Amino acid sequence: MLTLRSSCSNFSKSPDLKDLAGPPDQRPGRLRDASIQFITNTDTRRLGKLDETPEFNSHALDALRQPLEAGHVVIARSAGVVRFPAKFLMVLAANPCPCGRFSQTNDLCECPPSSIRRYQARLSGPLLDRVDLRVEVDRVTRAQLTARGARGESTATVADRVRAARERAAARLAGTPWRTNSEIPGRELRSRWYAAIGAMDEAERNLERGVLTARGLDRVLRVAWTVADLVGHDRPDATDVALALQLRTGVPRGVPMAIGALT
Ligand SMILES: [Zn+2]
Repeated sequence: MLTLRSSCSNFSKSPDLKDLAGPPDQRPGRLRDASIQFITNTDTRRLGKLDETPEFNSHALDALRQPLEAGHVVIARSAGVVRFPAKFLMVLAANPCPCGRFSQTNDLCECPPSSIRRYQARLSGPLLDRVDLRVEVDRVTRAQLTARGARGESTATVADRVRAARERAAARLAGTPWRTNSEIPGRELRSRWYAAIGAMDEAERNLERGVLTARGLDRVLRVAWTVADLVGHDRPDATDVALALQLRTGVPRGVPMAIGALT
């Protein structure tokens, strides 16, 4: 059962730090007030969505790092230091360039390469390191739009699969302080819930080559567990890890992006 508590999902377009921190009287800020709260039978989380993320103040964006990592935000003001819970799912949407038309497959974009680089660099590496899933959405062609049978799976089918995956994770985590893969600290994850033998080899090579950070490696393993839960594996195998890597780095690894295609 999914319940939305609020219809207000977007942050304002030019937020500054007070959007995160709240007003000077230290009430919780926008992360608590201006996001969708969704409640399932086993979980209560908020969902925050930023549209055109590179247009936001870079200091405000980087201030998201702490709550994304720790699940709380610490605000230091002259009146004292307060800590607010800030557990939420964050969706960052971004155009590929200032005009929004840059793509590997067409040449409609007229932005100079330097401006594309500057635009994309507004999302800092440390912020992106905390983003688990990066999905590039290409322009839809007329043929794709009108193709018969192109509607994909129904919401009900996907919801059933998500419910089963959550139950699988909850059963595995019974007796621990955690309910979902995303809550398991990195150290615990590595020592107690490892992938199948050899499944993490490619991800570890990515760490050695500097493509992944240590935090990124943990996050790949967490997402791989979620993939395994979705497809019904007892522990992540090489394909589950490859999909997690593909989702994190945006580099195709020959794995279908739709989980339904794996089941
Ligand atoms: Zn452009």
